[in-house]
Amino acid sequence: MANTRNAPRRAPSTRLQAVEVGERSLAAYFNVAPTHILESLDHEAERLRGARILQLNATPYGGGVSELLRSGVPLLRDLGLDVEWHVITGDEPFFRVTKAIHNGLQGDPQTLSDEDKAAYLATSARNADLLGDGWDFVVVHDPQPAALLPLYGKGDAKWVWRCHIETGTPNLETWEFLRGFLCDYDAAVFTLREFVPPDFPVARVATIAPAIDPLSPKNLPLARITAKQVLDWIGVDLDAPLVTQVSRFDPWKDPLGVIDAYRLAREEVPDLQLALVGSMALDDPEGWDLYRQIQEKAGGDARIKLFTNLTGVGNIEVNAFQRLSSVVLQKSIREGFGLVISEALWKGTPVVAGRAGGIPLQMADGTGGALVDSVEEAADEIVRLLRDPDRAAELGRRGHARVADHFLLPRLLLNELMLLNEIAGNGPADVLQDPVCGLVLDPDADLPAIEEHGHRRVFCSDDCRRRFLTEQLGEPAAEP
Ligand code: UDP
Repeated sequence: MANTRNAPRRAPSTRLQAVEVGERSLAAYFNVAPTHILESLDHEAERLRGARILQLNATPYGGGVSELLRSGVPLLRDLGLDVEWHVITGDEPFFRVTKAIHNGLQGDPQTLSDEDKAAYLATSARNADLLGDGWDFVVVHDPQPAALLPLYGKGDAKWVWRCHIETGTPNLETWEFLRGFLCDYDAAVFTLREFVPPDFPVARVATIAPAIDPLSPKNLPLARITAKQVLDWIGVDLDAPLVTQVSRFDPWKDPLGVIDAYRLAREEVPDLQLALVGSMALDDPEGWDLYRQIQEKAGGDARIKLFTNLTGVGNIEVNAFQRLSSVVLQKSIREGFGLVISEALWKGTPVVAGRAGGIPLQMADGTGGALVDSVEEAADEIVRLLRDPDRAAELGRRGHARVADHFLLPRLLLNELMLLNEIAGNGPADVLQDPVCGLVLDPDADLPAIEEHGHRRVFCSDDCRRRFLTEQLGEPAAEP
């Protein structure tokens, strides 16, 4: 930050709602996250020391973005950065429009009315008036606050738009509306390259996969006996096999398809139980509509149980569910990343998941469980795993190892700080990256690689290596 360090500095400010987070120490991640990542992260933070960073999103709880910020913001502070997390505010009509934009970007054909667009702009303008200045970087998460930049102006800050949803095949009318607000951003971040929408107006696009915090209450080690007590207390039968899906009640997560798959699997495993654990997010008004549909479809079946954050199912309960379930199901149809996959695998629990968005990257090369494309396949794979506990345990072990290598929070922060250094003009980082998925790799690890014109390319998995060969070089996918 050569250009900002010596300038007289005004305290950065906004009058938006600040989200309080606890204190964290990066030192706690030694022996948990890979050492090469922690060392590079420290180096990248050093190059930005003192930088004032505003993280902006729409909700302090519920969903993956708030998970990432709650853990990431205090760690960045521990690394010497001056980071604040603020949320925009809006009423229910605004969040209905932003959910419609979210749905449209994921391909929903429903279009926005002129009233919808006016409501989005009016609330964005009110929030833009509250956006103070003095920041070196403003990182805007998802479509809800995206219009604040053109409505407020860039000031001296570098602006990054971080898109967490699956936007590769958007409803073009919705995309055209949002696109107009993005032109002045300095960089944009997507979880996968294929999520970049058509005719994207920002030149610098980075691919950064999210990650989980292994030391958050949701993911930290929990004794089996304690986990059992937690689930027993809320009414789970500990003597019967359990399938669980943990997600917002959102049509893209296909909770109704989950019930169909469960019912098919139960024909083979009669004592099987299903838990649908869902949170209500402030910015997701569709949640209650879907909750009612799920209740209706479950039709009073005592072996299908619905749990929400509003009835006391919080991080520790989710931890216990992900740890003790025989199989974690995530039957998504569209999925930006799906933190719940890494959360379950981190606990060694096998996963059956929709082949959607960021899920296959987490389960590359068949690690962690099975990818499925239909209700029937989901049911078959659940039954297969229930009948073969040794295979289930082995898949869970391999899934845990993949998460440990690639999907823990310090790696995400490293990728993000590399981008901020780059757009600040501090030059590129000296790290090894997978050219397909952008993950930072261990230079000393034995990983899939190819030689290309005397240049060695290294990949996180054979899946990424194959994709590189087919897409970049036009060669047929060779088996490893
Ligand atoms: N989550 C939770 N309680 C619930 C449902 C979800 O804590 O009842 C958490 C879940 O553990 C994960 C996040 O919400 O950390 C969801 O993130 P993901 O990326 O899977 O999906 P998103 O909601 O962002 O689409």
